[in-house]
Formats: sequence, C-alpha cells, structure tokens
Amino acid sequence: MFESLSDRLGGVFDRLRGRGALTEADVRAAMREVRVALLEADVALPVAREFVDKATEAAIGQNVLRSVTPGQQVVKIVHDALVAMLGADASELLLDVTPPAVVMMVGLQGSGKTTTTAKIAKRLATKERKKVLMASLDVNRPNAQEQLATLGTQVDVSTLPIVAGQQPVDIARRAMQAAKLQGYDVLMLDTAGRLHVDQALMDEMRAVADVASPQEILLVVDALTGQDAVNVAENFSTEVPLTGVVLTRMDGDARGGAALSMRAVTGKPIKFAGTGEKMDALEAFHPERVAGRILG
Ligand code: GDP
Repeated sequence: MFESLSDRLGGVFDRLRGRGALTEADVRAAMREVRVALLEADVALPVAREFVDKATEAAIGQNVLRSVTPGQQVVKIVHDALVAMLGADASELLLDVTPPAVVMMVGLQGSGKTTTTAKIAKRLATKERKKVLMASLDVNRPNAQEQLATLGTQVDVSTLPIVAGQQPVDIARRAMQAAKLQGYDVLMLDTAGRLHVDQALMDEMRAVADVASPQEILLVVDALTGQDAVNVAENFSTEVPLTGVVLTRMDGDARGGAALSMRAVTGKPIKFAGTGEKMDALEAFHPERVAGRILG
C-alpha cells in the first residue's frame, strides 16, 4: 500500500532537496506534482486541492524560502499536512462509561465488517481484559449470525444466542439486556450490510442506534475500493453519527486514496486498519507512522 504514491512523492522531494535555493515558482511546480500524485493515488479531488493549497501557502510564507534548507522545510510542511489529513487527533475506542459500552459496526456487505467485529472484540478481550459480548443483527444475509458465532468461538468471545425470526432492533434490545444482566463490559453490534447504500439500511441503522445508544459507531470500509470507499463514507456519515472509521484490506495494494481522504470526508478519524484475514490482523491507526511510511 502507498508504494506508488510514496515513489512519486519521493521523486518530487529529491528534486526539491537537491536544488539548494528555491523560488516560489519551484514550490508551486513541486506542489502541482504533489497534487497529481495524490489524485493518482485516488485521493478525492477536493481533498487533494485543499491539501495542496494549504501546504503551498505554508511553504511560500513563513520565510521558508529564505531558510538555509528550504527543500527540507517544504518536505516537513508536506509531512505535517499529511499527518493532519490522516487525522492527527486519531484515538482508540472511547469506552469509558458505565458498562456495557456499546460499539456498533456499520458498512457495506463484503467490506469486512463481521471479521473486523471479531478482531476488535478479540483485541478488547485480550489487550484490555474486557468482558465482551458480540451480537449479529444481520438478518438479511443467510448465515451471517452463524458466521459471527463461529468467529466468536475462534477468538474466545461470547456471542448472543441466535433466535430465528427476530428483527434487528429486537435483537439489539435483547443484546443490551443480556449484556447488562450478565455483566459484560462491552457489547459489539454487527449490523447488516447491503450491496449499496440505501434508505432502508440507513433507517435500520438509526433505529438500532436509538435502542442501543452506542459510544462508538464505526464504519468499516474496504481500502481497495478507493474512490468508492470515499463515496460510501460520505453517504454513511451524513446518515448516522459515526465516531470513527476502520479501513480494511490495508494489506492489499490499495493506492491509499481512501485512507488519505477519509478524515476530510467524514470528519472522523480512522481508528483501526485491517491488515489481513487472520483475527489478529488489526492495527491501531497512527497518522504519524502512516505519513512516515508514505514519505519514506
Ligand atoms: P462483511 O460482509 O462486511 O461482514 O465482510 P466479512 O467480514 O465477511 O469479510 C469479507 C472477506 O474479507 C472475508 O473473506 C474476510 O476474511 C476478508 N477480510 C476482512 N478484512 C480483511 C483485511 O483487512 N484484509 C484482508 N486481506 N481480508 C480481509
């Protein structure tokens, strides 16, 4: 991931560093190349534009050009802008409430939602020693509830017993009750996906959120889908009060645009990155580290 973006930016920066003195025109030319590199990496157009405008302004102001190492300074400005773009205020889950804290997972079908639900549950159970209950509210996809139960067994996290024919909001209510009565710290709700964003899905999300009052509503999106992921995130974020994003398939050869656009488009930080199919292939998202990787 990020390889070609990283190569492109590396080329721009090498030329900048190599020049010694820099003029405003040099900076503007370099920033145009940065913009092209971002667009080629599938960064949403308005996001790329704003990024480059801000970075250009910073680079030609602040006496950067008169400094001893203008190239270095410009690179630093781009680095800082990248960190801001990725969400410098990223945080892990905020579950500091009277238990049970509720984490609701939303996203399109196939985005990796169920897998991610189990990965996060495992992380909370092992790293933070939380008592976690998972419940699938997906009554549309055959075997979705069983899939979560199987993953639960695999990661040693309890799942709500399946009751055939129950609707999502009723399952959510039952899950809340079970979590309260049985002293769980965290309840994870895996909601139904859809092939596309549609109104029925959004209505269902809102009804579930009303019943469960989640502390976290995490949108799961597939990083490999690039611009589509950005559009999906935009749609979801206007319909449900997201608290964060999980990007899956960061182990694939995504160009990075989804990761770079997500914060600007949803206003919410990326909290985790999925890096494989295995249950421990989940990493906290660190904008500094990711920016470091992109800029080599
Ligand atoms: P859902 O329909 O959104 O619940 O999607 P699933 O959780 O069933 O995931 C769909 C497929 O994507 C499964 O084969 C997962 O193993 C796979 N998957 C999920 N997350 C990742 C990831 O971060 N990396 C990779 N390589 N595969 C993933």
